[in-house]
Amino acid sequence: MQAGMLLDSAGSLWRRFGLHMPPEGGRVMKSRVKTMPKGLVRDVIERDGGFCLLVLPGCMGEASTADHRADRGHGGSLVLNHGAALIAACGLCNGRKTHLHPLERTPLIRRGLIVAKDSTNEKTLARCKETPIETVEGERFYLISANERTRVEDMMRGDR
Ligand SMILES: [Zn+2]
Repeated sequence: MQAGMLLDSAGSLWRRFGLHMPPEGGRVMKSRVKTMPKGLVRDVIERDGGFCLLVLPGCMGEASTADHRADRGHGGSLVLNHGAALIAACGLCNGRKTHLHPLERTPLIRRGLIVAKDSTNEKTLARCKETPIETVEGERFYLISANERTRVEDMMRGDR
């Protein structure tokens, strides 16, 4: 069989599935989605009041992105592109958070802004949902979704 025939059959296969032919060389790039949907980012920023929650030294104040509370690990799973796993952040803090000194990490962990990764992304997401975040003003919220957060106090009052 000639190489050309192989390419032809691969091409028809790609067409049959309505896909574009892979780029020259035929290597199919696995798309790793690193960017978050703009609507999701906008909702998270709005939910958190428009300001960066991390407030690391040099913080720009106004939030421009959504920061992942937990490390997604390899593969950039979409499971953690969930409102409960995201907080409003400025570009500077979002970038700085990945190389923090342990002394800077500790208060962020205590405030629920950094959540330890669990064995699976699903478990990590569950952990994000049950770990409240604390704002700079000291208010604590459970993050429900990209649009919704519940004050911890209100939650406790509701239990009574
Ligand atoms: Zn910031």
